[in-house]
Amino acid sequence: MIYLDHAAATPVDKRVLDAMKPYFTEDFFNPSAAYLPAKKVAADYEKAKGVIAHAIGAKTSDLIITAGATEANNLAFTSLGTESMFYSGSRPSGPSPRADGAKSRAAALRNPPNQNINSVLYLITEHDSVRCVAEQYGGQPIKVLPSGLIDLNDLRAKITDETELISVALVNNELGTIQPLAEIAGIIRDVKLDRLKRGIKTQLLLHSDASQALNLIDFNVARLGVDLLTLNAAKIYGPKGVGALYVSHNAKLRPLTLGGGQENGLRSGTENVPSVIGFAKAVELTKEHLNGNRKKYATWRKTLLSELQGYDLINKKHTLDNFVVICYNSIDAERLVFLLEEKEIYVATGAACAASKGIRSHVLKAIGLTDEQIAGSLRLTLGETNDETQIHEAAKAINEIVKNEYQRIKVSSR
Ligand code: PLP
Repeated sequence: MIYLDHAAATPVDKRVLDAMKPYFTEDFFNPSAAYLPAKKVAADYEKAKGVIAHAIGAKTSDLIITAGATEANNLAFTSLGTESMFYSGSRPSGPSPRADGAKSRAAALRNPPNQNINSVLYLITEHDSVRCVAEQYGGQPIKVLPSGLIDLNDLRAKITDETELISVALVNNELGTIQPLAEIAGIIRDVKLDRLKRGIKTQLLLHSDASQALNLIDFNVARLGVDLLTLNAAKIYGPKGVGALYVSHNAKLRPLTLGGGQENGLRSGTENVPSVIGFAKAVELTKEHLNGNRKKYATWRKTLLSELQGYDLINKKHTLDNFVVICYNSIDAERLVFLLEEKEIYVATGAACAASKGIRSHVLKAIGLTDEQIAGSLRLTLGETNDETQIHEAAKAINEIVKNEYQRIKVSSR
C-alpha cells in the first residue's frame, strides 16, 4: 500500500512500541501505590512527562496528560470564567504533587461551568475539537486570508475588553498552514498592557492546538508566547488516545474529571503509563529526526508537485513540508479517493472526521474555495511509511485516475 494520510493517523514506531511493552505486563503497577515497584513506575511516568515537557521548553509540572488532543482542547476551555482554582501550571520541577479528591471537588464546586460568556475567539479553520467547544462558549470566529493565514486585522478588531481566550492552532490539520503564533502573542501582550493601564482585570489567554506541529516544527512555549498548548501523540508515531495540555502559570483551570486527584487534580484517573512512556519515546524520536525529515518531505513535495498533472495547488505557502493539498476542476475527489483505494493508495479529501460524516470542509470554505473546488480537493500528507519510489508511483497512479475520470466525464456528457 501507499499511505498518504499521515495527518489523520501515524503508525506506532516499533521503538515506541518496544518502550511501552513492559508497562503493560511486568511494570503494570498503579503509580499511586505505596510499595517500591509502584514507586518506580511513578518515577518512570514522571520522567516520561519530563521528556515531553522539555521538548517544548516546559516543566514536567506544566503538563496535564489527557486522552488525546480533543480532551486537551476541551480542558483548555475550562479556563474560561474560572476565578479561583487549586492548580496553576509552573510548579517547581520534580514529581507533580497529587491533589486530593476533596480539594478537587471543592474547586469544581467553586467553579461551575460558565456557558453564558461571550468572550472566546477562535480561528475559523480550527479542528472541530476546538470549534465545537468554542461555539458552546459563544465564541466568535476569526477570519483567515486566502493563504490560510490568520487575518490579523480581524483578530485586532474582534478583541474586546471581555475577551478571555483566543485559540489558534499552530498548524492547520487540513492545509498544513503554520500560523504566526509569536505575532499573535505580541498583539495579545499589547492588549493586556492597555487593559492594565485602564485597570481592567479580565484575563486574556492564548491557546494553541499544536497536534500537527510537533512532528516538523522545533517550537518552544516561551517563544510562541502561549499560555495553553495541546499536544497529540497519535500524530507523531506514538499511541492513539494520549495527548497533553501545557498550562502556564497564567492559566487557571477547572478539573475535567474529579476523583483521585491525578494530573495535579485536573484530570483524575489512574495514569495511562504505557501510553505516556510511548508518547515520550515518540517525542524523542521526532526531535532527533526533525531536520532530516523536513528536508526529505520538502523534496518529496516538490517531486509530487512536478509529476502530478492538471491540478491547482491550494496550500502554496506557509505550510508544513509534508502537506500537499490540490484541487481538480469538475472532478469529485471522493471518487478519486475510492478509485485510489482500489490500488491500495490511501489519501484524504479533508480532515478524517469530517470526511466520514460527508461534510464539506469548513477550512477550504474559509479560505474562499467554491463548492466545486472543495468537492475536487485532495489532501496528501507524507510521512515515515513512504519512500521516494512510492512518491513517483502515487503521482503516476493519481495522474492516470484523473485522466480516466476526465475521459469518463467527457463521454457521459455527450
Ligand atoms: N486537533 C488537530 C489539529 C487534529 O489534527 C486532531 C486529529 O485529527 C485533533 C485535534 C484531535 O485529536 P484526537 O482525535 O487524537 O483527540
